[in-house]
Amino acid sequence: MNRNQFTIPFLLLIIILSQCRERAQEKLPLHGRIVAIEAGHEPPLPDQPCHTNGGGAGTSSFSGAVELLYSGNTLACPNGAIPEHALNEDIARKLQKLIESAGGKTVWTRIEEIEPTPEGRMSNLKARAERANQAKADVLIDIHANAGPSPDDSGYLLIVHCTGVDSIHEGNTPFNLESSECDPDRGTRKFKKSLELATKIDNRLSQLTYNGGQISKKRDMYGADFWLPGTAAMPTVLVEVGFMTNKHDMDLLAEEGYRQMVAQALYRAVLDYFESEKG
Ligand SMILES: [Zn+2]
Repeated sequence: MNRNQFTIPFLLLIIILSQCRERAQEKLPLHGRIVAIEAGHEPPLPDQPCHTNGGGAGTSSFSGAVELLYSGNTLACPNGAIPEHALNEDIARKLQKLIESAGGKTVWTRIEEIEPTPEGRMSNLKARAERANQAKADVLIDIHANAGPSPDDSGYLLIVHCTGVDSIHEGNTPFNLESSECDPDRGTRKFKKSLELATKIDNRLSQLTYNGGQISKKRDMYGADFWLPGTAAMPTVLVEVGFMTNKHDMDLLAEEGYRQMVAQALYRAVLDYFESEKG
């Protein structure tokens, strides 16, 4: 066999194999979909304690969470406190893997470099949303964990954006979706689709149990004028997975297995959402 006789069948085989691979990719449930994933906040600045979030988005010290210690936990600081940015990132990375293994593309929106001034924080948040907007993501899931003034505050919460973009400011208290403050956005596609995605997430999270334990919903859907959900162009849901200041919630969130199940629930909700888009 001369060189050409060998090369041509070999090339044909490569073409056939790559076509098979493409067809297999097309059959994956999230083929052609783009999911933006925001891991809320970022690691602390060099002069900040390990248990805090960085200088950026919705910075909060979570002083209550420092009292719940999980020494030796993979996400914990040397003092045993688990910082919110690390918890959010862990769930977000797990979700990213699941989305990509189902053929979806992901956009990682967190930007860790930040100027710790109000202006720097605002431009960082805008830049995060811009990443999702430029990639023309179909949806954005913004992952956070909550903190409350009382150790009894517990449960997961789902928040969608529902005021005019002009009025967006960081850290506004979320309000009930039925409130008249949501009126300007109620008829928009973004609002309706965000609510639809939030409902799918709610359906999945409400069924989640781990070793008999469960984080239940705190209360009905919330609306808010947070920066990221407001400046993102696509349907966006901010998920507060539980309260870091509540022992019951935090004991579950500290478990790798529980966080995997949260990621799985979010992934299934994304599948449900796109499935209902087809119908
Ligand atoms: Zn947060």
